[in-house]
Amino acid sequence: MVTDRTHKSKCTGCFACVDICPKNCITMIEDSEGFLYPVVNAELCINCGLCEKVCPIVNGKTAANERDIKAYAAINNNEEIRLKSSSGGIFTLIAESVIDKGGAVFGAAFDNDFKVIHKYTETKEGLEDFRGSKYVQSVIGETYKQAKHFLESGRLVLFTGTPCQIGGLYSYLGKDYDNLITQDLICHGVPSPMVWNKYLEYRESVSRASARRMSFRRKNCGWKTFSVSFEFSNDTEYVAKLTDDLYMKAFLRNLCLRPSCYDCKFKTKHRQADITLADFWGVQNFLPEMDDDKGTSLIIINSDRGKDIFNKISNKTKFLEVNIEEAIKNNSSMIQSVVLPKKRENFIADIKAKPFNKVVDSYCKRKFINRLKGKLKSILLKNRRVK
Ligand SMILES: Cc1cc2nc3c(=O)[nH]c(=O)nc-3n(C[C@H](O)[C@H](O)[C@H](O)COP(=O)(O)OP(=O)(O)OC[C@H]3O[C@@H](n4cnc5c(N)ncnc54)[C@H](O)[C@@H]3O)c2cc1C
Repeated sequence: MVTDRTHKSKCTGCFACVDICPKNCITMIEDSEGFLYPVVNAELCINCGLCEKVCPIVNGKTAANERDIKAYAAINNNEEIRLKSSSGGIFTLIAESVIDKGGAVFGAAFDNDFKVIHKYTETKEGLEDFRGSKYVQSVIGETYKQAKHFLESGRLVLFTGTPCQIGGLYSYLGKDYDNLITQDLICHGVPSPMVWNKYLEYRESVSRASARRMSFRRKNCGWKTFSVSFEFSNDTEYVAKLTDDLYMKAFLRNLCLRPSCYDCKFKTKHRQADITLADFWGVQNFLPEMDDDKGTSLIIINSDRGKDIFNKISNKTKFLEVNIEEAIKNNSSMIQSVVLPKKRENFIADIKAKPFNKVVDSYCKRKFINRLKGKLKSILLKNRRVK
């Protein structure tokens, strides 16, 4: 367990230490940036050391041994599901095959207050809540314990999450189970739930109504330039391209990620998860036949178990094998952490105290040279049209 201030940049908030504690004396407490960190009640602690032993960061258990990896560009044949998913809709196919066998699927969902939490479902209808990326750190809560309970009773379990959440699960379980399948993501990093909440409040105040539905990845104008959308209780809607949305601007400029994301130990080609999913960014450049701008997944098979499940679902997809190095060329988050912006701390402090739109506008101003380039480009285009 990494707790003190100097180690705060290491703790991923995975909950393994909380869930393993035999005295239930560790609680996750929100810090001033809105991230959860473990705090020990010293009066109840018996110094058993299990919280240290289980921490994947303390133990360096953040990658798998080198294995034979295969990568595919893949698209779910069910277009309705694909359009509701972030990339090619492959998560749903994997999850449905587990549910068909009486298994349970764990993933990240919004609760009634739009807080992002981990939970499980045993039905295909329940998968709806997990579909689509939520760009907020999800709270693992009791889900490692619930997954262990299912595994011990012999049920098939699919556990999905960020690479650090999958690392936390394996450390907590302490052994491999034949009936466990894991699926992680190529992860840019996870934003602060506090910043997300401030954004939600801002949107609700602008629309003068509470949010009813929300999507970070609406594909109405395409997958590559996806939109963020909200539906409100007064039947109004907000839709903005990812490049225009205030929250996405802050996220993509890395202004509000968890401190550990800037030096993520789980960014490796040799993932612990059986399957890694991602957007196949750049697919149009070398596999144009796999791009219709409705979403293409990159699926990376890391283990025999991953291979088995891909064999089972592949007849419900259009897929092509790809070279892994080519596939991740436009997705450096597979192996590289993002850079920590100098102004991150100030940004988070300002977001707490000042209007959301003003803070994002002032921190995400386009540099003069980029504004000039944009202007020149539009003049050139106009001239070309006139000719
Ligand atoms: C925080 C975050 C950062 C990401 N960064 C990248 C990136 O840099 N490059 C890239 O190619 N892809 C990234 N992805 C993954 C990508 O957006 C898609 O989730 C992935 O391609 C799977 O898409 P799909 O169409 O198969 O299924 P979908 O239905 O879109 O995927 C849903 C899956 O995502 C999981 N999920 C959703 N939100 C969260 C969350 N907050 N925490 C943990 N798990 C979550 C669900 O549990 C489920 O397993 C990121 C996802 C998240 C959540």
